[in-house]
Order: sequence, then structure tokens, then C-alpha cells
Amino acid sequence: MTRIAIIGAGISGLATSYAIEQQAKQAGLDVETFVVEKESRIGGKILSVQEDGFLCEWGPNGFLDNKPMTLDLCRQLKIDPQLLRSDDNARKRFIYSEKILHQMPENGPAFLKSKLISWPGKFRLAGEMVVPKRQPGGDETLAEFGRRRLGDEALNKLISPMVSGIFAGNPETMSLKSCFPRIYELEQQYGGLIRAMLMLAKKKRADIKAGKAVASAAGPGGVLTSFRGGIQELTDGIAAGISGGILSGQGVQKVEQKKDSFSLHLEEGQQLDADIVVTAAPAFAVADMLDELNENSSSILRQIPYATMNVVCFGYQKERIQFDLNGFGYLIPKAEGCDTLGTLWDSSIFSDRAPEGMVLLRSMMGGAANSAAIDLSEEEVKSRTMKDLKQIMGIDCEPEFVKIFRHRHAIPQYTRGHGQRLLELEGSLQNCPDLILTGNSFYGVGLNDCVNAANQAATKVIGRIQQRIL
Ligand SMILES: Cc1cc2nc3c(=O)[nH]c(=O)nc-3n(C[C@H](O)[C@H](O)[C@H](O)COP(=O)(O)OP(=O)(O)OC[C@H]3O[C@@H](n4cnc5c(N)ncnc54)[C@H](O)[C@@H]3O)c2cc1C
Repeated sequence: MTRIAIIGAGISGLATSYAIEQQAKQAGLDVETFVVEKESRIGGKILSVQEDGFLCEWGPNGFLDNKPMTLDLCRQLKIDPQLLRSDDNARKRFIYSEKILHQMPENGPAFLKSKLISWPGKFRLAGEMVVPKRQPGGDETLAEFGRRRLGDEALNKLISPMVSGIFAGNPETMSLKSCFPRIYELEQQYGGLIRAMLMLAKKKRADIKAGKAVASAAGPGGVLTSFRGGIQELTDGIAAGISGGILSGQGVQKVEQKKDSFSLHLEEGQQLDADIVVTAAPAFAVADMLDELNENSSSILRQIPYATMNVVCFGYQKERIQFDLNGFGYLIPKAEGCDTLGTLWDSSIFSDRAPEGMVLLRSMMGGAANSAAIDLSEEEVKSRTMKDLKQIMGIDCEPEFVKIFRHRHAIPQYTRGHGQRLLELEGSLQNCPDLILTGNSFYGVGLNDCVNAANQAATKVIGRIQQRIL
């Protein structure tokens, strides 16, 4: 029997524990897993709060169905009947630019008609076709990539809001290769993004003609998917599907390496032994745990910064909002000088997020470019959010319901050099193969990325068990 400890009960830790049990069963291996979680509740960034008839998401409000990992996991757990697809109108996303909300164009003709990008900006964007491919190597930031291939206007109005929507990040510091590896590959493979789009569309048409299966009809972005009771049903469902124990309310302070095993030192003095350890806690927390075991790894882990975030939920009476909330919501480029990064029209995205006759809006404030926002008072957060809602949607009435969530360590930032740092981290842990690192600090922050990384971590664990047996 191999004892495996997983540290952290966010989606990454829970999905790793589940995947280890499933893969061990298939390989006929005898394992005992246990998850250790610092907080008294499980779920990490995932928490769905029901209050006064509103369902407010503390962190993520769903996952995209254009990648299979999370959907597959839901099917395995048999929780897929409870899945809730976002409303079709939630495909309509907006960007607030030059005091106007512009719908994000979904295709070429819509892009030509859109006033989001000026004509010179559109010509510059079309010129992407003739921008030479960058030689591989080095680590370009998202801003450098955007300026080089698409021009300043597209960088400021398209790329920057997208980066703040996904990472709450600053494109001037974030690595293209680490944040959007697919975009990097498309340039390398096809010579540019427009060329890649044309070639991939041609291939898709040929595949359809040949009767081959093609990617989801949901389109490139996929459909945002959650559950009737909120995204927390996902982590609750995984926890229910795990046979091993979950020990919550007990943080790991130190991972000590013994001859052929590890000892986890918990906050209240307890020690737990394990043959293999998987960490799925944030990078800075893992750094603290590994200080004595591997100082070099700790110092690399501490170089992964985190953006802060305030999530501000406002409930209003529907009849008092004149603005048409038909869509997903909007992102705000930094140049607009707003305090918030954007607002999601949560009750339009998923049904039942607000009581009858009410609407629920969720604004994001903070991010890498405004980390001080985390320390603003409740009153200040509320008034600054209301100011933006008034300016952008003309909402000037008091909300009936207010809920503010704070994330001091919201999202890890894959800054320039992130890929190199991960290589160094791998190197520094080479002599410690039974310690495996996963979680959103490394290869993607989306829920699909976390589940994918969890499956890969589980495969590594199974490989190690098989080697230990030999
Ligand atoms: C506001 C917000 C909105 C988001 N929206 C989306 C979205 O819509 N879609 C999407 O796909 N992604 C979204 N994300 C990203 C996504 O939610 C996260 O990347 C993902 O949930 C991270 O999961 P994780 O398990 O890797 O880390 P976490 O959820 O951070 O879990 C780590 C766990 O480790 C525990 N821990 C820490 N220290 C210790 C210790 N010493 N001992 C034991 N345990 C410890 C923590 O308490 C925590 O439970 C969003 C993130 C935020 C913050």
C-alpha cells in the first residue's frame, strides 16, 4: 500500500486525489490517499455563496466546454446532469472604450462594422498578415507581442482587457509563451495569427466534408458552463467521489524528507507520514513548506507573484435598471481610467442567480495594475464600483444587496521568464522525484488547466509507485 498526501483542497488538489484513485484502480495498484487543507472548508478559490436569494460566486463562475477535461471529470463523477450551460446571449461580450460599450465582434464582417477599433487600427491589424514570424527563443511579453503583430490600438483595446479578464494581469510583464502557449505556437507554426485562422478554417471545412469529427460547435471560445447550485457543486462533487480522507482546518507548515518517505508537519503540531507528496497549494505557500527540504525550489516558487482582487456583487431591482443587460458583461481597458476591471452580468449569464424581479452584477476590482485596491475599505470599494456602474451603464440607484469578497492572492502571474523558472524548479527537484508539484501556479489558471495538470500529476504518481515496486 502506497500512502499519498495531497496538500491543498482546491480544484487542483481534489482532482489530483480523484485521478490518483482512478488511475491506481486501473493499474491494479493499492493506494491510500489523503488531502490536507489549511482552511476549514474545501474548494480553494471555488465557493458559491447563497444569500438573500442571490447566488454569488466568490471566484470562478464556470469553465469553458471547448476543452474536454472538466466535462470528462463531471461525467466520471456522474454530476453532469446538474450542469448548467450559460445563456446563448452570454456569447455577447462587450468592451468599454472611449465612453462607449462596444460588442466584441465575433466574425470578420462584424469586426469591419465595429467602432471599437478605428480604421487605421483595423488596417494595422490586417497588416498582421505580413508581419514576419519572430524567431523562436526568448520570452516576449504579451504587450511586446501585441505591439509587434497587431499594433498599439489592438493591444490596448483587445489584448489588455483579455489579459485582465483571465489573469487580472499586466500585459507589459506577462509572458506570451506561458500565458497563451497556443498563440505562441500558432505564430511559430503558421507564421501569424490571421494565416493560422485561415488555415485552420480551411482544415475544418475539409474535415467536415470528409465526415471527420470537428471541435465543439461552441466556437473557439466555448460555452461557459456551471451548475444549478453554482460552481461549488464541482469541488463538492469531486470530494464526494474520493475514497481517501480530507483533513481540513490544518495547514501544512513543513514537508520533511525521510529516507524513503516524507513527514508532513501540520500547524497544530501533528505529523503525518506519506510515501509520495503532491502539493496543490499556491506557490508562495509551497515555498514556505519546502524551505528546509529544498531552499532553491522555495526561492524559485517565491518568484511567482500574485494579483489581488476584490469581487463586488451588487443586487438591484430589475425595474430600476434601464440598461439592457442582455449579454455576458464587459471588460475595461486600463486607458479608460476606471477603478474596476469589468463587470459580469451574472444573472444574465446563468438563470437563477438572482431572486425573481432582481438582477445580480459582479464587478472585479484590483489586479496586477491596482494591487492597493485590496486594502480599500468596504465603503470605498462600494462607492468606486458604483461610480463605474453609473458612468458605464447609467446605473445610479443604490443596490439592494451588496457582497464584497477579497482575494489577497487571487491569480498567479506568469511573468517574463516564467517558463525558464519552471525548468529550473524541475531541475532543483530532480533528486526528489516523490515530491510532485501541481496547481494553478504553473501551467494555466483556468479550471480546465487545473484539471488537466491534476491528471498529469496523477500519472506521475502512478509512474513513481510502479518504479518503487520494481
Ligand atoms: C475572482 C476569480 C475569478 C476566476 N474566474 C474563473 C473562471 O470563471 N473560470 C476559470 O476557469 N477560472 C477562473 N479563475 C481561476 C480559477 O478559479 C483558479 O485558477 C483555480 O480555482 C485554482 O485552483 P487551485 O486548486 O490550483 O488553487 P486554489 O483554489 O487556490 O487552492 C489551493 C488550496 O491550498 C490551500 N492551502 C494553502 N496553503 C496551505 C497549506 N499550508 N496547507 C494546506 N493547504 C493549503 C488553500 O487554502 C486552498 O484551498 C478565477 C479566479 C479568481 C480568483
